[in-house]
Amino acid sequence: MPTVAPASAQDAISISILGATGSIGASTIDLVLADPDRISVDSLTASTNAEKLAHEARRVGARLAVIADPDRYGELKAALSGSGIEAAAGRDAVVAAAGRPVDIMVSAIVGAAGLAPSLAAIGAAKAIALANKETLVCAGSLFMGAAAKAGTEILPVDSEHNAIFQVFERENAGEIAEVIITASGGPFLRMPREALATVTREMALRHPKWVMGPKITIDSATLMNKGLELIEAFHLYPVEPDQLSVLVHPQSVVHGLVRYRDGSLLAELGEPDMRTPIGYCLSWPRRRPTSVKALDLAAVGTLTFERPDRDRFPCLVLAEAALREGDGATCVLNAANEVAVEAFLQGRTGFTDIPVVVERTLSHMAASGPLAAPASLDAAMDLDQTARQIAREGLDFKGTVAS
Ligand code: NAD
Ligand code: MG
Repeated sequence: MPTVAPASAQDAISISILGATGSIGASTIDLVLADPDRISVDSLTASTNAEKLAHEARRVGARLAVIADPDRYGELKAALSGSGIEAAAGRDAVVAAAGRPVDIMVSAIVGAAGLAPSLAAIGAAKAIALANKETLVCAGSLFMGAAAKAGTEILPVDSEHNAIFQVFERENAGEIAEVIITASGGPFLRMPREALATVTREMALRHPKWVMGPKITIDSATLMNKGLELIEAFHLYPVEPDQLSVLVHPQSVVHGLVRYRDGSLLAELGEPDMRTPIGYCLSWPRRRPTSVKALDLAAVGTLTFERPDRDRFPCLVLAEAALREGDGATCVLNAANEVAVEAFLQGRTGFTDIPVVVERTLSHMAASGPLAAPASLDAAMDLDQTARQIAREGLDFKGTVAS
């Protein structure tokens, strides 16, 4: 680890981590442990793994550990015994933890389950380091509107959006022609269309560049992740949908680019390691050293870029269409995708069924007219639940879905 300069009192920050036992949680904890004099931890939350949560809470000296599954309370309490760390359980307790005042709330729960806690952090946290992209896909206008009103800064953790954050000149927003996010292309970049139907869970979980949680890894294989990221970028930056684009870049060295009308194309480059964007969020507006390997461009040698293949990756097309329709459609897209991905991970449906389930859910729900953007958390959760129900019904008719 590089030596970090001693923190002065005004540098010190308090953080909480929602989703502390996941991949983003682990990278964040790594950064905390490298800079313990500057970063103190208030709360950690997790879904079901009480033992790991307690272990991490002890390592970072958290004040509170919250497990979403109420049945794991006893286990968590026992694992924290003698540590002085408070234990709590249940979904409401996760939301309550998110509402405790801190400098930076790291929002790293996976899926729409992250929406209520992310919203609760608005006003309580000075800034939200947002990894949970589903918050923006599910209710982006609601979330960004509430954050702007409360004066809570949203710092993007997602590597592409963090890259754009670093090169997006807000004072020159009117001079921006295009915002480009890159995609590794996932494990099936060159796989022929017919072969995609035979993709197994194990094949799809082997991402060539990034080590991440299972849901985002499957989303990366279908390119739904890039679709979700276009929607995410739309809410984070003052751009129109047709100013957003995707470039496949298998080396994953260039993470995001902003093209200005004067002909300049600004990009952020780095090793594919989430500790860079998370570290930037935890240091912003300054920069601090991390233990991330320095990018050696000569060793990389060649950087290549190509357009995504929309025929083989229809999830990207579905997400682009939903983005144009608005927050109601993107909320449904996200819910249906979560249901389909979970079914795929459980071996209940095929890889190429994922876009079919999403498409059918969207057309079913939009049959009686355009889907209204959720104006409240309850409205977003209602729409999410209805879409999940329709998507599950679609899965039950798997024979029809696959045809
Ligand atoms: P992960 O599956 O590794 O971890 C998810 C975390 O959320 C775990 O701590 C889990 O306990 C918690 N969680 C899951 N369901 C929950 C629920 N219902 N209630 C409360 N907590 C719950 O996921 P990850 O890869 O760390 O991704 C987290 C988020 O960050 C996702 O939205 C993902 O899209 C985004 N993201 C991840 C990466 C990455 O490199 N992993 C990169 C960019 C963005
Ligand atoms: Mg990303």
